[in-house]
Amino acid sequence: MTETFTFRADALAAAVRAIVAAAGSHDGEAAQVAANLVEANLRGHDSHGVGMVPRYIDAVLEGGLAVNAHVAVRQDSGALLTLDGRQGYGQVIGQEAMELGASRAKAHGVCVVGLAHSHHLGRIGQWAEQCVEHGLVSIHFVNVLSRPIVAPFGGRDARLGTNPFCVGIPRPGGEPILLDFATSKIAQGKTRVAYNKGLAIEPGTLIDDHGEPTTNPRYTVVEPIGALLPFGEHKGAGLALICELLGGALAGGATGRAVSDGRRRVLNSMFSILVDPDRLGTAANLAEELEGFVAYATASPPQPGVGRVRTPGEPERETKARRLVDGIPVDSVTWSEIVGAGAKVGVAAARVEALARG
Ligand code: NAD
Repeated sequence: MTETFTFRADALAAAVRAIVAAAGSHDGEAAQVAANLVEANLRGHDSHGVGMVPRYIDAVLEGGLAVNAHVAVRQDSGALLTLDGRQGYGQVIGQEAMELGASRAKAHGVCVVGLAHSHHLGRIGQWAEQCVEHGLVSIHFVNVLSRPIVAPFGGRDARLGTNPFCVGIPRPGGEPILLDFATSKIAQGKTRVAYNKGLAIEPGTLIDDHGEPTTNPRYTVVEPIGALLPFGEHKGAGLALICELLGGALAGGATGRAVSDGRRRVLNSMFSILVDPDRLGTAANLAEELEGFVAYATASPPQPGVGRVRTPGEPERETKARRLVDGIPVDSVTWSEIVGAGAKVGVAAARVEALARG
C-alpha cells in the first residue's frame, strides 16, 4: 500500500490550474480544467480527477491536445448540431457543446448533438448536470479513441474503449437522477489508481495479454497489455458497441479501429440527445411519476450490508459532501506524477506543493 495525502478541493484546484496554465492554457481554460478534474475527485471518481493531469500535459507536449481551442460548428440544422472539438480540452469543448445544444433544445424542444474529436471529456456526468441545470433530460453515448482496452464479449483481447453511457433527468425542487458509467466492468482509470496503490482488482474484471483471467491491474497500465471485460456480459458489450457506433461514427468521429499513432492523447466523441420535457408536454407527468417511482423503488428492503436503496447520482453527492469536509485523498504515486507533470512545464515542485497545501 502506498501513502495517501489529503488536499482541500480549492487548494488542489489552484495547484492543477497553475500546471495547466504553465502548459499554455489561458487562465480561464486552466481554471475550467482544474475545476472539472477536482469535481470528479469530489464526486468520488478519482479515475477522472487530478490524476489525469500527467496524461494531459504529455498530450499537450506531444501535440495531441490543443490548448485554448474552441468548438467548431460543422453543420447546423437547428435541432441537429454537428460539432468538432478540434482536440481541445474536453473540459472546455464539452461545456461549449452542451451550452449550444441546450439553447437549441430550449428553442426546438430537442437537440441532437454530434460532437467529434474532443480531447478527454472527463466525467460525462458533468455534461448531463449542465443539461439538468437547463431543465433538460439528456442521453449521452461516448466512445474513446485511445489504445483499445476492453474486450468484446467472448473476445480474448481489447477492441473497444471504456465507452461511457450517461443519462441525466432533472427533478423539480430535488436532486437529479444521474446515471453515468463506463461500459467496462470498471473505469480504466480505476485500474490505474489500483496499480498506483498496489491493490488487486476484483476477480472477473480483467484478462491478461494471453486472454486469461487476472486480478493484477498492471495488465491495463504497463506492457504487456491485456483487457478489461465489459460490464453485464453480452448486454454491456452490446452497449459499448453502440457507444462506438453512435458516439464515434454517427457523431462524426472515428471508431476504435483507428490505429494509434503512439501519441498519448485520449480523444472522445459524444452523441447526445437533449430533450425539454416542457416542450414535450410531459413535464408534469415526468415530475409526478419520477417522485412516485423513486419513492416506490427506494422503499425496497435493503439487502444485508446495504444501508438503504439509492438512486443513480446519490453516491456521488454523498461523497462530495464528505470530501468537501474531509478533503480529497490522493495516493503518493499519483501525487508524484502530478508534481512531475508540473516540472515538465516549468512549475517547481515546491510551488505545486505550496499551492496544494493552501
Ligand atoms: P461506477 O461504476 O462508479 O458507476 C457510477 C454510476 O452508478 C453512477 O451513476 C452512480 O450514481 C451509480 N451508482 C453507484 N453505486 C450506486 C448505488 N449503490 N445505488 C445506485 N446507484 C449507484 O462508474 P464508472 O463506470 O467507474 O465510471 C466512472 C466515471 O468515469 C464516470 O463519470 C464516467 O463518465 C467516466 N468515464 C469517462 C470516460 C471518458 O473517456 N471520458 C471513459 C470511461 C468512464
